[in-house]
Amino acid sequence: MPHFDNRWLRELPGDTCTQNHPRQVHEALWSTVTPEAAPNPRLLAHSREVAELLDLDEATIRSRDWLGALSGNSLLAGMATYVTCYGGHQFGTWAGQLGDGRAIFLGEAVNAQGKRFELQLKGAGPTPYSRHADGYAVLRSSVREFLCSEAMHHLGVPTTRALSLVATGKTVIRDMFYDGHPAAETGAIVCRVAPSFTRFGHFELPAARGDTALLQKLLDFTLDRDFPDFAHTHPDERVARWFIEVCERTARLIVHWMRVGFVHGVMNTDNMSILGLTIDYGPYGWIDDFDPLWTPNTTDAAGRRYCFGRQPDIARWNLERLADALSLIAPDPGALAEGIERYDTTYDREFRTAFAAKFGFTGWRDGDDDLVETAFQLMYRGEIDMTVFFRTLGQVDLEVPDIDSLRDAFYAGAKFRAVAGELATWLQRWRQRIKSDGRPNDRRLSAMNAANPRYVLRNYLAQQAIERAEAGDMTMIDELLETLRHPYDNQPGKEVFAARRPDWARRKPGCSMLSCSS
Ligand code: AMP
Ligand code: MG
Repeated sequence: MPHFDNRWLRELPGDTCTQNHPRQVHEALWSTVTPEAAPNPRLLAHSREVAELLDLDEATIRSRDWLGALSGNSLLAGMATYVTCYGGHQFGTWAGQLGDGRAIFLGEAVNAQGKRFELQLKGAGPTPYSRHADGYAVLRSSVREFLCSEAMHHLGVPTTRALSLVATGKTVIRDMFYDGHPAAETGAIVCRVAPSFTRFGHFELPAARGDTALLQKLLDFTLDRDFPDFAHTHPDERVARWFIEVCERTARLIVHWMRVGFVHGVMNTDNMSILGLTIDYGPYGWIDDFDPLWTPNTTDAAGRRYCFGRQPDIARWNLERLADALSLIAPDPGALAEGIERYDTTYDREFRTAFAAKFGFTGWRDGDDDLVETAFQLMYRGEIDMTVFFRTLGQVDLEVPDIDSLRDAFYAGAKFRAVAGELATWLQRWRQRIKSDGRPNDRRLSAMNAANPRYVLRNYLAQQAIERAEAGDMTMIDELLETLRHPYDNQPGKEVFAARRPDWARRKPGCSMLSCSS
């Protein structure tokens, strides 16, 4: 059992009002709230790795006491329930106060190694920040958050984690397509875990209100609790130095998303973590056929602000908004520009490292830009499955490179024939490039396998697991969770999870387009 040490509550100013009604909260960073009781809580799944991080053994995580805590029904010693106050830019526009509308903190757990983790129940009922919404989450979106958090972690992508998935026994009404057809869905709660859930928007809100005292308090707290390495940085330089760190972490995060084909779908500034973690799994999606303009989010379909290919630019734009906020308390606001520059240089460097590895090169060389860009063009025009392509590329016979070995990555025969000639030429160039590295073939192949996942949480796989879960069968959740623990390994018997998206899933809701309704 971890112990709880709730520094956010202890060290930051809280809301004087303790009632639970929607309101604007000023000069405070949190409000207390009581989760709503879950009438019939059931633990549907849990992550044993996250349980381990929290020093919880199997029997404990399955105990009545913990089910009580994970469903919002009761608290364990040291826990406290509260929600935090933040704002954000949504789809490029300042949205004012948002806050934790349905994620209720249980406190800060400290494990035996002294590592600190914030715990949150997502979907445990309304809070002062719920605005017009109900504070609940449905099984569909909770399965998606639970599975994807863990899948991302095992892929090596920085992310918030998921301890548990609990059905509440409540019925929640959702109009999934926003088309006037509300339906009853199963209520659920994910307990998410991260060293810090602090978002860019936590800094933006006090800045937008001109509350520099609160902004300064939050910064001091954040540096002290979440970035202790900055304790000895000279006060005049602290803000700018810390901002550089956030910029670098964000750059590395986005490179990870690009290399695994993850599209967040709602990169609003309130969904950006200061630790550079993937946070708030909503209408996210995975790239099947390679398309930089693809967005999983139906709300984003018209503008495509959050499509795959724009993620690097949007992250930069979001960092600029964080810089705007920090400029109010930076002794030299001009120094913040260095962070943005560092975002660009870190992104470029890490992108090259990641994609050199994906293509099987020992490092990035001059001239690789053209080879890689040509590959992206072919993948786009040929509607090639990104995950299958990279995983299969490693297996192409270097002596007799044959485009047929990549046939599996294509969704349509006509597209394959359309790019066949160019692909053959490209494959020859790629082969020359690989040979010039002089690396033994088996070493190259294992390096490529370590850079190119065989298993990702394809949209249609998550959807299948959801449909079964809604019918009371959790086995596919367990099976996916297990398979996605080792995404870079060939797992005999699990081929079905490595295949490209089946045709029936191409236009099916949940498999190609996701709504924000969750
Ligand atoms: P999102 O775009 O999902 O990150 O959410 C933006 C804001 O809406 C945040 O303040 C959320 O807490 C809030 N929100 C989203 N869904 C709900 C819900 N069902 N009930 C209450 N608040 C919500
Ligand atoms: Mg959010």
